[in-house]
Amino acid sequence: MATRKIPKDELVIKTIKNVLKRRIVVHSQYDLCSLTLRELRRIDPRYVLSPRRVKKLVLKIPVIEIRAKTKRILKKKKLQECPICGGEIRKIFGKNLLNEKIHLGYACKVCGFRTDLKSFVPRRYIFVFKTIDDRKYRS
Ligand SMILES: [Zn+2]
Repeated sequence: MATRKIPKDELVIKTIKNVLKRRIVVHSQYDLCSLTLRELRRIDPRYVLSPRRVKKLVLKIPVIEIRAKTKRILKKKKLQECPICGGEIRKIFGKNLLNEKIHLGYACKVCGFRTDLKSFVPRRYIFVFKTIDDRKYRS
C-alpha cells in the first residue's frame, strides 16, 4: 500500500502562488489542484491534495482572486452556505414597486460573493493572480 502524505498549508499556499504567478489564470479548481500537486510531487511523490482544499487555501491568499462562473438555474432554491468559501450567507432584500420587502438574493459574509436567486450555482471557478497591471486596468 502506498503511503500518502499531506503537505502543510504553508507549502501548498506557496506552491499555488508559484503556479498562478506563472500562469496568471487557471480556469478550474481541478486544474489548479493538479498543477499544484504536480509541483508538490517534485518535492515528495507521496503528497496528496484535493481540489476542495486548494480552493479553501486560495481564500487565504490575498494576491489571488476567485471568480465564479455561474450556471443559471430556473428553480428558486434556498442557499444554505456560500458556494465559494462555504461561509455564512445572508439574504439580500429590496423593495418592489408596491414598496413591499422582497427577497432578492444572497451575499456571503466571508468572501463577498453575491448572487440573485436565479444564478447562485457556480459552474466553475477561475483563479486569477492579481498583478500590478491587472489592478491598473480595473475600474
Ligand atoms: Zn463566501
